Amino acid sequence: MLLGAPGSGKGTQAEMITRQFGIPVTSPGAILRREKDLGTPLGLETAEITQRGDLVSDKIIIGLIEDWLRLHGGHGFVFDGFPRTLPQAESLRLILTRLHTSLDLAIWLEVSEETVRARISGRLQCRSCGFTTSVTSAKFAERPVCPYCDGPLVRRNDDDMSVLQTRLREFNTKTQPLADFYGKMSILDRVDGNRDREAVFNDISRLIEGKVPA
Ligand code: ADP
Repeated sequence: MLLGAPGSGKGTQAEMITRQFGIPVTSPGAILRREKDLGTPLGLETAEITQRGDLVSDKIIIGLIEDWLRLHGGHGFVFDGFPRTLPQAESLRLILTRLHTSLDLAIWLEVSEETVRARISGRLQCRSCGFTTSVTSAKFAERPVCPYCDGPLVRRNDDDMSVLQTRLREFNTKTQPLADFYGKMSILDRVDGNRDREAVFNDISRLIEGKVPA
C-alpha cells in the first residue's frame, strides 16, 4: 500500500511496481477518473467531489476496493491512494481478515509541500490509459503524447493550486492519522519521496524484495 500526500508521484511509483514485480495495482482515484470519462452514474456522482479536492465517501471507496479484491486480489495487490481515512483502514482490516489475507507493508511516501506543488504543476496524465508523467519528461514531443498508447497527455482538472489547498487539508486531517495506525501494526516504512523517481523506486523495491518470497 502506498500512502502519500497528493501528487507525491505515487501514480508513477505504482506503475513501476507493476512493471517490475508484476503485482496488480489499483487506485480509487484512477477508477473514479475512468468512470467519469465513461459517464457512468458513479463517475457523475463523484466528479464534482474529486474536482473540489474533497475525499469521496468511505462507503463508495470501500465498495470499489471490495469489488476489485474479489475480481483481482488473489495473487497479491498494491493499493495506490487507499486507504485515506481511518474508517477505510478499519474496513480493509475486516475485509482482509475475511479473505484470510494479511498486509505485508504500508509505504509512507514523505514529501514536502514544495515538492507537492512542483509535481502537481508539472503532472501530465494520458487520457486513454492513465499513464502518469511530467511536463519535463514529456518534452520529447511537440504535442505531448503517451509513450505507451499514443493517447493525449493532459493536465488533471484537480491539479490546480486552489484545489490543492483542499486536498492538503483533507490529507492533514483524515489521512495523516494512518501513519500511527500502521505504525502500531509495525508494517509502516517511511520513504523520502522528495528525491528523483529512480532513487525513490530503489527504496520501494528493496522494501518489497524484503517481503516477497524468493
Ligand atoms: P493523487 O494522485 O493526487 O494522490 P488520486 O488520483 O489518488 O490523487 O485521487 C484523486 C481524487 O480521488 C482525490 O482527491 C479524492 O477526491 C478521490 N479519492 C481517491 N482515493 C480516495 C480514497 N481512498 N478515499 C476518498 N477519496 C479518494
